[in-house]
Amino acid sequence: MERKGILFVLSGPSGAGKGTVCKALMDTKTPLKLSISVTTRSPRDGEQEGLNYFFRSVAEFEEMIAADALLEWAKVYNNFYGTPRSFVEQQLAAGHDVFLEIDIQGAMQVKRRFPNGVFIFLIPPSQRELESRILGRGSETTESFNIRTSAARDELQKMREYDYVVVNDVVADACVRIRSIIEAEHAQVRRNLYLIENW
Ligand code: 5GP
Repeated sequence: MERKGILFVLSGPSGAGKGTVCKALMDTKTPLKLSISVTTRSPRDGEQEGLNYFFRSVAEFEEMIAADALLEWAKVYNNFYGTPRSFVEQQLAAGHDVFLEIDIQGAMQVKRRFPNGVFIFLIPPSQRELESRILGRGSETTESFNIRTSAARDELQKMREYDYVVVNDVVADACVRIRSIIEAEHAQVRRNLYLIENW
């Protein structure tokens, strides 16, 4: 028996800073295989195909759903996002830890398929901080600001479904906490029973 990889899922309300924390975590050379999602949204300035996302048309995305090529998918603010299934399955089977940064709807689907996954909920320190972060993006109309802040309040309730919560006050500190979670999960006895056989 050998160690299998662990699936880590980082998710949380809009404006929690999932993308920033995920990028910072990868920059610290934490040994995780980051899953690259498929999306139907257009690339932003500087984003690269296959590095940030696989950018696909709605028709192509629907084909992937029909072919069961996505582990989960969700519509987030009018665009589709999904996790390619084969990458995740192959990396886990090869003993690598896999990291997903996805929205809450997607995380709940992954939880059904991978109940042994580790689900981390990232939240901003306060409602006020969340509002100022959303405003700071500078891209919101009053309407979309209201939609996002009220969605975040509802989304916070989903915290109960997760294994860990990390408050994203300072990005570097949030990364340290996530790395501690990764270490702790590696030390779980139930994940290390192979050591008895291989002793
Ligand atoms: P953005 O367009 O800003 O890159 O991402 C928007 C939202 O989509 C973020 O909350 C991000 O976590 C989420 N997201 C990115 N990739 C996936 C995915 O593969 N599946 C799901 N369900 N959500 C995703």
